[in-house]
Amino acid sequence: TTSIAESDPELHAAMQDELGRQRDEIELIASENIVSQAVMEAQGSVLTNKYAEGYPGRRYYGGCQYVDVAENLARDRAKELFGCGFVNVQPNSGSQANQGVFQALLKPGDTILGMSLDAGGHLTHGAKPNQSGKWFNAIQYGVREDDLLLDYDQVQALATEHKPQMIIAGGSAIPRVIDFARMREIADSVGAYLLVDMAHFAGLVASGHYPSPFPHAHVATTTTHKTLRGPRGGMILTDDADLAKKFNSAIFPGIQGGPLMHVIAGKAVAFGEALRPGFKEYQTQVIANAKALADQLIKGGLDIVTGGTDTHLMLVDLRPAGVKGNATEKALGRAHITCNKNGIPFDTESPMVTSGIRLGTPAGTTRGFGELEFREIADLIVEVVNGLAANGEDGNAEVEASVRARVQAMCDRFPIYPNL
Ligand code: PLP
Repeated sequence: TTSIAESDPELHAAMQDELGRQRDEIELIASENIVSQAVMEAQGSVLTNKYAEGYPGRRYYGGCQYVDVAENLARDRAKELFGCGFVNVQPNSGSQANQGVFQALLKPGDTILGMSLDAGGHLTHGAKPNQSGKWFNAIQYGVREDDLLLDYDQVQALATEHKPQMIIAGGSAIPRVIDFARMREIADSVGAYLLVDMAHFAGLVASGHYPSPFPHAHVATTTTHKTLRGPRGGMILTDDADLAKKFNSAIFPGIQGGPLMHVIAGKAVAFGEALRPGFKEYQTQVIANAKALADQLIKGGLDIVTGGTDTHLMLVDLRPAGVKGNATEKALGRAHITCNKNGIPFDTESPMVTSGIRLGTPAGTTRGFGELEFREIADLIVEVVNGLAANGEDGNAEVEASVRARVQAMCDRFPIYPNL
């Protein structure tokens, strides 16, 4: 019954340092968010003790009556949020949600067609080092060279040529809306399943700011911790009862054992929060903030891939400034602005260097930043980038210290986790 502070001061110190980092730094990683204390309470609860292999009402262990309530709440709320008939809330991560879908619908050696990593796709969509790229014949599509938008004609041509069993839409660095009807048309033309991986924009779908994958997708997968603002985890959704059965068997006993019931409870909490009116207002602000950030970065002389964004994220092309993604990530980090280096389409730099950074507004918006703050953040980024351009890899220490002080002032005006 002792607290971590008493029983494990070394770990406690790291946890306190991380809390301090989150409080005092501006978080621009597009895949991150700041969950409510209610979500954390669920995750730190006694539900972590429970084995519950199987599904509500059909478990392989006794004593599951209360965790059944939690899982049913998560399922029902997810169905309501996304307007579909069936959902599996057990995947431990977005990657395992995708793996579950593959296990249900594909055999090793089958052909899949997904967006390449460097165009904005995800590792699990057929990238070489990932299981999806090793166990399947993975064909990859990209974006058009002229406007950097998804190349539907290429998707159709590759589909016709390679006859994939599955086409995957979605990714980790796509700033514009995907035409799911068009993707389904292409899938139908070759008899392929359409999987929409909405991990990044699921929160925007839930609030009605992004088109729903349904009725176009045979199946949709998502993470629950990005724009959806829930605990770290994954989920599979479908409107097809037969497919739903296959996904359930694929997750358990196919690829997972006992579900993380405390995380599933956290999902239920987050989905409940997303069903309240405040969530729609939040996502409206997420997008307004992203547009303001992109616009102000362009005014500051930086390029944004596709010229802006329709979503919560953007890719900054750093080539006009003459700096690299890795050095920029580090310099911004020294100024307490957190982001990640990211390849831009047709990048000639390696993935460890890159010509870009990816920025997103979900976390900052949760702590209360509006467009005014995001325009200020854009100005701070431009200052740091210019300091880097003028001074080489080490950046300009004076500029970075001055930006760090202004970041602290902004974070102090919008505190997070006051009760921790
Ligand atoms: N799919 C997409 C589009 C993602 O962006 C991510 C996460 O970055 C995933 C899947 C994988 O999620 P996880 O990191 O939970 O495995």
